[in-house]
Amino acid sequence: MDTEGGWNLRLDHIAFAVKDLEESSRFYRDVLGLKCSRPEAVPEQKVRLAFLELGEVKIELVEPSAPDSPIARFLETRGGKGGIHHVCLAVEDLDAEMERLRAKGAAFITERPRPGSRGSRVAFIHPKSSGGVLIELCERR
Ligand code: ZN
Repeated sequence: MDTEGGWNLRLDHIAFAVKDLEESSRFYRDVLGLKCSRPEAVPEQKVRLAFLELGEVKIELVEPSAPDSPIARFLETRGGKGGIHHVCLAVEDLDAEMERLRAKGAAFITERPRPGSRGSRVAFIHPKSSGGVLIELCERR
């Protein structure tokens, strides 16, 4: 079995697409009792988002901030309903990880890493490479 790489990946967050960030965070904060971060805009991805802290792993609530946001399109395909959008794996070195995965045939949605939340760099593995699941890779500094 090929065990090269992969050992340094860990689950960072699971992202839920939401129509309304404030309304959704109210449920997680007031009903479930989770700690919710301040909303943050990521203009490069046309979203606003907030994190719910769950120990080592987080839930990310992502709201579209423009009609042509990928999240807006995702919500449209689901008849306006929110749902699980992607899972995110944290990596130490995003460029090296992209190179390693490309060498094994994985396709990425963008050629190069893009700015993510909280000063991170991110890249998304295309769902056609991963059996239909959108996987984000994230490098935090
Ligand atoms: Zn994410």
